[in-house]
Amino acid sequence: MPGGILLVPIGEVEADLAAWLAEELGSALGCPVTVGEAVPIPKGGYDPHRRQYRGEAMLAALRAVSTPAGRVLGLADVDCYAPGLNFIFGQAALRGREAFVALPRLRPSFYGLPDDLPLFRQRVLKEAVHELGHTWGLGHCPDPRCVMHFSNTLHDTDVKGASFCSRCRQNLPRWTPTSAPNSSA
Ligand SMILES: [Zn+2]
Ligand SMILES: [Zn+2]
Repeated sequence: MPGGILLVPIGEVEADLAAWLAEELGSALGCPVTVGEAVPIPKGGYDPHRRQYRGEAMLAALRAVSTPAGRVLGLADVDCYAPGLNFIFGQAALRGREAFVALPRLRPSFYGLPDDLPLFRQRVLKEAVHELGHTWGLGHCPDPRCVMHFSNTLHDTDVKGASFCSRCRQNLPRWTPTSAPNSSA
């Protein structure tokens, strides 16, 4: 996409995760993806009763990032929520510049299971593409294999692919390469 995508760690995020995601997103979406400087976790976004951060505060922190990139994708290793939801895997400004992925609930260890790095990374990739899809104006898709399918639980995330179904792809901006892998891949 014009200007590409800037990946921004919000607080402490393992460096090799951001580097891996930048490469995967770059080849999946056919646009330049770079890793930028980390920004601090917005302390004001913390809800001490819920022990979670407001997703909106994460988006606000990303809005303050000055970059020529067309999209700014944050990675936050803290549990987040949005009003009306117990938790969120990520959040995006619809047709906006900013989106982010919340990492803790994508790790098997969050649920007392042994950690699984490839599985964790695939979940991060899917949620990243999903939130970016919202910034490009896509809503939720009824196809459970499509990356734009809503993840109510991690099971939904694990069932869906990391790419857009043909219908969603038609609704993407024109820069999207036609060679992008399809959802059956
Ligand atoms: Zn969504
Ligand atoms: Zn779709």
